Amino acid sequence: MSVVCPECDSPLDVDVDDVEEGEIIQCDECGIDLEVVSSDPLELVPVDEEGYSDEDEDLPLDDEDE
Ligand SMILES: [Zn+2]
Repeated sequence: MSVVCPECDSPLDVDVDDVEEGEIIQCDECGIDLEVVSSDPLELVPVDEEGYSDEDEDLPLDDEDE
């Protein structure tokens, strides 16, 4: 399944099996952070970075899907 970046319209190579709702992925082209709001069908929305510091990432990213 292919999806395009809502910001720059670049095709994103996202494996649906690899993402889950609420996960944040990043567009390789424009670097914007995108939140997976739906995995079926795959739907991405730009993350509102207002008041958010990139240097201060302290999100409990649950990357270990085991
Ligand atoms: Zn983009």
